[in-house]
Amino acid sequence: VRALVSRPPTGGAELIDVPPPDLGPGQVRVRVLEVGICGTDLDIVAGRYGRPPDGASYLILGHENLGVVEEGADPNGPLRPGTLVVATVRRGCGTCAFCAAGRSDFCASGNYTERGIWRANGYLAEEYVESATELVPVPAALRACAVLTEPTSVVEKAIEQGQLVWDRVAYPPGAGPRRSRALVAGAGAVGLLASLLLRLRGWDVTTIDRHGSTTLAAQLLGEAGARHVDVEAGLDALGDDRFDLVVEASGSAGLDSELLDRIATNGVLVLTGIPDASGGTPKALGAQWRRLVLANQAVVGSVNANRTHFAAAVADLGRLAGRWPGLLERLVGERRPWDDGPAVFGHRPEGTIKTALVVRGA
Ligand SMILES: [Zn+2]
Ligand SMILES: [Zn+2]
Repeated sequence: VRALVSRPPTGGAELIDVPPPDLGPGQVRVRVLEVGICGTDLDIVAGRYGRPPDGASYLILGHENLGVVEEGADPNGPLRPGTLVVATVRRGCGTCAFCAAGRSDFCASGNYTERGIWRANGYLAEEYVESATELVPVPAALRACAVLTEPTSVVEKAIEQGQLVWDRVAYPPGAGPRRSRALVAGAGAVGLLASLLLRLRGWDVTTIDRHGSTTLAAQLLGEAGARHVDVEAGLDALGDDRFDLVVEASGSAGLDSELLDRIATNGVLVLTGIPDASGGTPKALGAQWRRLVLANQAVVGSVNANRTHFAAAVADLGRLAGRWPGLLERLVGERRPWDDGPAVFGHRPEGTIKTALVVRGA
C-alpha cells in the first residue's frame, strides 16, 4: 500500500510502497480518508522530532486521522464496515501504573509509543489496522469536520484539567461563584477549538494572537461570540484584565511567563503549547510566585489525550456543528491531495488554520 513517510532523525517526506499491515485478532482494518497536519508533523519532516518503529528505517506520518472501517469489525458492535472512525494516538508503555489504569496520557515511564510520531507508524497510508478498543466511531453527519477530532481531544483534556483544578475549591454544587472569564492564548487550530469549546460551555472568552482583526481566525472567533485581541504590541492590550481560566496554545516560553500575570484569584493557567527548551526564557519573578501562593493560583501542563477525550471531542464537534453551522468546515481551511504532501510540508500558506491531506475522497 502507498504511505507518506519520513525518516527521523533526517526528516523529509516521500510517498513509498509499504507492505499492507496484517489484521490480528481483535483488530480492524481501516481505509484512510484524510489526515490533518500540525506543527508536530512539520517538526518531524524538518528533522527536529519523531522516531521510527524500533528497527525500521522510516516512520509513516500522520496522527490527526479520519477513516472508514473496512473489515475485521464486530458485526454486532458499533464498528461495522462503512463506519467512520478516528483512532487514538498514544499506546501505553505496558509497565507503569498510569498506563495499567488506562491513563496512558499520564504515562510515567516515558516508554509509550505514539502513532505517526514516536516509535509507531501513523495514519498517512491507504489503510491501517488497529485494535477496536482504540477506535472511536464518528457519526456520518460529522464527515466534513471529524478530521478535527484529534486536536479537539487535546483541548478536551486541557479544559478538563483546568476544571479539575477549579473543583478543588469544592463549594457546594450551585452555591459557588460563577467562573466566567477565560483567556485563550493563540488562535491556531488548538486555540480556536479551545475558544469554541469554552464558548459552547458559556464562558466569556478572550482570545489573543499577534494578528489583526481581518484574519479568518479573528472572523471565526467573532462569529462564535469570542473577543479577539491583537497583542502584537504586548499584553498591555488586555488592560488590567485577569481570567479564571487561562488556556495557553502558542508554545512560547516568554508568553507563558507573562500569562502568569493574567490569572485571577483562585484561577488556573493550563499550558498546552510545547515551548523551545533553549532560548531566553524570562524567569518568573518573585512577585509572580508570591501572587501564585497568596491568590491560590495553579499552573498545569497538559499533553496528549485519552480515549475518553476523543469520545468527548466527537460529541462536542456535533454540538459545535449544531450551534455554529459551517464554522468548523471553514476551520479546516485547506484540503490537498496527499500526493502534494511533500510540498505541503515545505510551505504552509499564510492564514490557513488547518490543512488536511486527502488520502481518499468521498
Ligand atoms: Zn497534531
Ligand atoms: Zn506508562
